[in-house]
Amino acid sequence: MDVSTHIEAVHAEVRRRNPGEAEFHQAVTEVLSSLGPALERHPEYVSGGIVERLCEPERQVAFRVPWVDDQGAVRVNRGFRIEFSSALGPYKGGLRFHPSVNLGIVKFLGFEQIFKNALTGMGIGGGKGGADFDPRGRSDGEIMRFCQSFMTELYRHIGERTDVPAGDIGVGGREIGFLFGQYKRLTNRFEAGVLTGKPVAWGGSHARTEATGYGTVFFAQEMLATRGKSFDGRRVVVSGSGNVAVYAIEKVQALGGRVVACSDSSGYVVDEDGIDLELLKEIKEVRRARLSVYAEVKPTAHFSARGTLYDVPCDIALPCATQNELGRDDAVALTKNGVLAVAEGANMPSTPEAIEVLRGAGVLFGPGKAANAGGVATSALEMQQNAARDQWTFEQTESRLAAVMRDIHTECRATADTYGGAPDDYVLGANIAGFLRVADAMAAQGIV
Ligand code: NDP
Repeated sequence: MDVSTHIEAVHAEVRRRNPGEAEFHQAVTEVLSSLGPALERHPEYVSGGIVERLCEPERQVAFRVPWVDDQGAVRVNRGFRIEFSSALGPYKGGLRFHPSVNLGIVKFLGFEQIFKNALTGMGIGGGKGGADFDPRGRSDGEIMRFCQSFMTELYRHIGERTDVPAGDIGVGGREIGFLFGQYKRLTNRFEAGVLTGKPVAWGGSHARTEATGYGTVFFAQEMLATRGKSFDGRRVVVSGSGNVAVYAIEKVQALGGRVVACSDSSGYVVDEDGIDLELLKEIKEVRRARLSVYAEVKPTAHFSARGTLYDVPCDIALPCATQNELGRDDAVALTKNGVLAVAEGANMPSTPEAIEVLRGAGVLFGPGKAANAGGVATSALEMQQNAARDQWTFEQTESRLAAVMRDIHTECRATADTYGGAPDDYVLGANIAGFLRVADAMAAQGIV
């Protein structure tokens, strides 16, 4: 069978076997559309069924999460853990708590995670999990009870050598603390390496909180440098105002850029003075309030509940909120305003149509599986520190993160070049480089 027929057959089978899982189909399509040149050179991956096996998770767990709210009412959510690939190490990937979570979303995230984790060069497989629980407006007590119930099922499936979850949308340090406490109680083990993203005081790594946002900016910095440019003096928009967005903003500002807009799911804020990061952190992390409060407090800012922050003229855009938030029209607006680079801090934030527009216009485009790999890379550094019962300084950890991001950038370019693409075809480079590392391991480990 020729390579394109093989890829189309796998693709058709994924669609048939996973009906209605639009985001999972989208993630698979994006990877498979890059793999032709790699499979042409490695026919043994076709005969070894590597791509078919990669598209089917090794294990999928779905479970009931019952809990009691502050009014005494019983609530029921659905939890998931998709253990996608253990070819390179224990399953590794975050937990997302958001009402939109369903099987297809968790599978898309788990699938992306396989290649992202491979790109880091560290010994971690791919997985993802979460629940359709909405933490917004819930008290600390409700969050704790939900996390405890979630872990009461999840603990059977995880372990520092099996599967190591971390945070994602709706899961930060507070939730990781509650999850870890329940795991410890159920197992009677202080197994620090079972979860990453822990607070620094008891097993967490310095720079993990910052890592995804910082790493995205490091990746964008590398892309800009190939064209003799930098963040210094540039206008930047960053979507979202959660963990990834906040620390992307922090690093852009440290590099001399001016972040003029950010957002949440209710709208976006424009502040031509540059986003006041201390105020933003206070509103989002301490008060856990809506972004509109920023404009109520800061006279130079205005909040808009309609439209999109991608209409705000900028040199660099960092989508750091959620999947499919940057569509075709946004990409057209960005290119009309002369955007130089787009680096994805979120997972799959740009639609395929948007990516086509950006790349067609010669914009530097860093796909999430490369650009946001700094978070999981630093999680792997946290696992190393836990295994050694050690803790590195912030500076040591950040410099390891910066080196990982530089290496990923270099590898993407070199791989794109080797497999017939332009060196700045980061989509091709990231997909093939990640795939080859996993495929080599799978081929060596037999049909398992
Ligand atoms: P957080 O929960 O901390 O923040 C998410 C942010 O995105 C919030 O500001 C949220 O606003 C906003 N948001 C959510 N949905 C929408 C929407 N439909 N439109 C506009 N804004 C929206 O999550 P993280 O920062 O951790 O994650 C953000 C992205 O980065 C996700 O795609 C995640 O998978 C990815 N990522 C995260 C990593 C990490 O280490 N945390 C690692 C790699 C990738 P609101 O408060 O209104 O919901």
